Amino acid sequence: MSDLDNNLQKIEKLLAPHRAETLPHFINGKRDPGRSGETFEGYTPVDNSVIGNVASGNADDIDAACRAADAAFEEWRELPGAERKKLLHKVADAIVKNAESIALVESYDSGQPLKFMSKAAIRGAANFRFFGDMAPGARDGQSLPADEHINYSIRQPIGPVGVITPWNTPFMLSTWKIAPALAAGCTVVHKPAEWSPYSAMMLAEIAHDAGLPDGVLNCVQGLGETAGKTLTEHPAIKAVAFVGESTTGSHIMRQGADTLKRVHFELGGKNPVIVFDDADLDRALDAVVFMIYSLNGERCTSSSRLLVQESIQDEFNAKLVERIGMLKVGHPLDPNTEIGPLIHQRHFEKVCSYFEAAIADGAKIAAGGSAVEGSGNFVNPTLFTGASNDMRIAQQEIFGPVLTAIPFKDEDDALRIANESEYGLAGYVWTNDIGRGHRLAKNLDAGMIWINSENNRHLPSPFGGMKASGIGRDGGDYSFEFYMETKNVCVALGSHRVPKLGKK
Ligand code: NAD
Repeated sequence: MSDLDNNLQKIEKLLAPHRAETLPHFINGKRDPGRSGETFEGYTPVDNSVIGNVASGNADDIDAACRAADAAFEEWRELPGAERKKLLHKVADAIVKNAESIALVESYDSGQPLKFMSKAAIRGAANFRFFGDMAPGARDGQSLPADEHINYSIRQPIGPVGVITPWNTPFMLSTWKIAPALAAGCTVVHKPAEWSPYSAMMLAEIAHDAGLPDGVLNCVQGLGETAGKTLTEHPAIKAVAFVGESTTGSHIMRQGADTLKRVHFELGGKNPVIVFDDADLDRALDAVVFMIYSLNGERCTSSSRLLVQESIQDEFNAKLVERIGMLKVGHPLDPNTEIGPLIHQRHFEKVCSYFEAAIADGAKIAAGGSAVEGSGNFVNPTLFTGASNDMRIAQQEIFGPVLTAIPFKDEDDALRIANESEYGLAGYVWTNDIGRGHRLAKNLDAGMIWINSENNRHLPSPFGGMKASGIGRDGGDYSFEFYMETKNVCVALGSHRVPKLGKK
């Protein structure tokens, strides 16, 4: 039996319960069918067939989950950090134990190749371990002495928080938000994306079975405009961590205004990778291919704009076309597949619409530029050349395996093109001139810069974007800054004169 057939057998077993029964919510430590009986269909992008029905959360379901998170908050925040650490490590152990099932379900539900989803599941466990280790020190503040007072700061968890996640690498991304929230002492209501509902339920159940008390992590399935919106408006929810499109971020900011929600946004990107003629071009080529065609190009940090120096553009683009021709597009559960189907028919149509837009705007299609024949949301990995930065393919987030190559003359030109974007998430620079690398790092409008490297995550480092790419940073203590309130305590040493009013 081939590896694919073997995985298909495994996925059928894993999905059998979801084919038979509606995927419920997880509220207050229990599976919860929802209060309305309304459902929506979960699909696989492999052939757009229905996997099963999913409970569609309404305002009452969100209210039940928020009340549960509120009721659980006091006990959870009072649990010593060392105890929370132990529990979060147990969750991490349980994720590792279930990693194969998580990866298979995630891959079949979202279309991301198993090759990457196996690693993503393990990274989910690493997020729980990393933030679990930080839990005992999460409340620590600073000592800030003055002449006649001693100031010190302490932190406390902000309260129950809402976590709203997208459909790209949904399991890993949700752990990136949920693990630090729990480590900080917050309780959570999670609203996963309606196009990838299955792994969120696995996480809620795994965490509960590993020992998380009832109500500490709740999951409500549902649509953004209903369940998501209500979550952002609920008065018990003190902060909303959101990952998704920039326009949705604007909606959430408006929706949360009446209850003065603190918000943290990880939004879209149109990230430049700048390749200079003095770079190690073999390594640069590997990184360019990896950073746009892995994860189906459905990745916020993908380098979707290739800025290549004029002197090497013909050679570099030709090599790129050769490599694109060798990429393996196929069933996401085939361990050899490098590019799987796009998440949903609607997204597939959006991505395909850029093939016409590229030609209409005057670019050339050097590779791909078409859908793969047959069922499912497969597109051929694509390279547009002869593009300029004002074209739609250079300005809009396509979010597929589609790369736009734009030539530049020199460093100033590269910087200008890179910064002419509404987004500012990540930037990649390939050069062997160390001064130039640092100059660009200083001047690029992006929250994260990688020099001579693909996206390489370091959990304590700040992760996030500027401009339309986000508000706030995640990672290490940056995450706690969001999920906690900082309190200053000022203690007089007794030596200063207290102002005397109404007294001679
Ligand atoms: P999306 O904004 O459509 O949806 C994200 C989530 O928001 C979903 O759960 C959805 O149901 C919910 N939602 C939609 N409308 C809502 C509303 N009015 N109120 C509350 N919730 C609402 O995004 P998507 O299409 O699922 O994800 C792709 C986007 O995510 C891309 O733009 C990508 O760049 C971005 N993203 C960014 C990062 C980052 O770190 N910057 C990481 C991953 C993905």
